[in-house]
Amino acid sequence: MARTTDIEVVIGGGGVAGAVTAMALHELGYEVLVVEPGLNDDRRLAGELLHPPGVAGLAELGFSDLLMQEPAVAVNGFRISSGADEEFVSLPYELVPAHRMPGLSLEHGLIRQRLMQTIRALPRITVVDKARIVSVDQSDSSHVSVQIADGDALTQYRCRLLVAADGASSPIRKYAGIGVHSRRIATIYGYRIPAETLPDRDYGYVFLGSRTPILVYPVGGNDARIMFDVPYDASRRANPADCLDLSAALPPDMRRGVEHAVATQNRMSAVIQEVSAERLANGRVVLIGDAAVTCHPLTATGMTMCITDALLLRDAIADQSGDLVRALQLQQRRRRWRQATRLSLAEALRDVFCGDTPEMRVVRRGILRYWRDSSAGRRASMALLSTADGHLLALIREFFSVIFHGFLADLRDPVEQAGGPRRAPHRLIGGLARVLFRQLRQVVGKCRMVS
Ligand SMILES: Cc1cc2nc3c(=O)[nH]c(=O)nc-3n(C[C@H](O)[C@H](O)[C@H](O)COP(=O)(O)OP(=O)(O)OC[C@H]3O[C@@H](n4cnc5c(N)ncnc54)[C@H](O)[C@@H]3O)c2cc1C
Repeated sequence: MARTTDIEVVIGGGGVAGAVTAMALHELGYEVLVVEPGLNDDRRLAGELLHPPGVAGLAELGFSDLLMQEPAVAVNGFRISSGADEEFVSLPYELVPAHRMPGLSLEHGLIRQRLMQTIRALPRITVVDKARIVSVDQSDSSHVSVQIADGDALTQYRCRLLVAADGASSPIRKYAGIGVHSRRIATIYGYRIPAETLPDRDYGYVFLGSRTPILVYPVGGNDARIMFDVPYDASRRANPADCLDLSAALPPDMRRGVEHAVATQNRMSAVIQEVSAERLANGRVVLIGDAAVTCHPLTATGMTMCITDALLLRDAIADQSGDLVRALQLQQRRRRWRQATRLSLAEALRDVFCGDTPEMRVVRRGILRYWRDSSAGRRASMALLSTADGHLLALIREFFSVIFHGFLADLRDPVEQAGGPRRAPHRLIGGLARVLFRQLRQVVGKCRMVS
């Protein structure tokens, strides 16, 4: 029988969630063991852009020194091109008073490497590489028994807290008896193109005008990352030629960069799923980062949520004076509405940016008009996008504002109906009411998923 070792905390996963949680718990004085099987970062497409709340969280945890070194780049916000008039709508981070610093962008592999390098240097954190958690037992409520496999060798640990930070497909979640809701959404392809094709090198860009939005942002040095979203279709496989089709909506120099990249670079892609655990904690096991909730990366919030999860866990443990089971319940209550807001926003935004019905085109124009005409609207939307504001009511207020702006714009200048006469206002109101109702129903669905 394998020997059992006692340790206070075991963290399964050495990605962003695992590293920041290790740091947050180390700050409270816990002895932490991080277990990481190892990933091939060269082929893995994942988060590279951190919103200001994420950067501030990393600074608070003491990660800034290494993380912010070159080739990391500061990002000052987003610009959105509707494709039609090529005029950008700007959403700078500085609009939101809660943003105390700019965002940050860096290759995902380097982010992971730098976070792990920082925690490896700490005295009470041990990292076990090339090993994985293979079983979890909570039959004795005073602790969790965790089995770790390192090749053929098995080691048994007994801990007070197990953190599942093992990503969207989390095996630890399953070992802990927590179910999931999941649905496949898309495949995303990523390439590098020259950063000089960006109109401004310290902004991220969203190009509309194609079937799905295209994201481009600086990623350090002379490179920008471009990401293409190919919606899931059970009847056909996504492939790089889809990226060339989508790139028709890009400015000519960027399009040339994409053609060259598709022809010469190794393909990086990721299958995108919406995943939401049925509960965020069970006994002494807590899910952090993508293991808890994963959504479409259009809003670029995954890593920021990993950091928020870790900070909320730290604060809940401190507030419950180290009573871990009660702390997990408190943390679950504190984060579920933020997660519902984040999931709802990602889905609503993708619906609006991809929708091809006349009503959705009206709403798409409404959102761009709203951002163009209203500085309060830009501020409120930016706060939701960056997760600085996690209130569902704020999101619902934004839905109403956007739809109202779309309606007014359509009265002045109707969205063309293919071959048909101008839509009567009462029909438009009916169509927009249905869009609003569908979005609100989705919000209720997300709330159910995370509560
Ligand atoms: C295409 C794409 C673009 C994105 N863009 C952004 C963006 O711009 N900004 C943003 O904030 N987010 C973005 N995201 C989301 C972001 O990448 C994730 O939210 C984040 O990386 C999740 O980190 P994690 O540590 O929770 O999970 P992961 O990074 O998946 O790490 C999980 C770790 O657990 C390990 N593991 C697996 N099984 C076990 C086991 N049995 N035992 C122990 N360890 C195990 C794995 O090896 C892995 O290292 C994007 C995602 C995608 C796919």
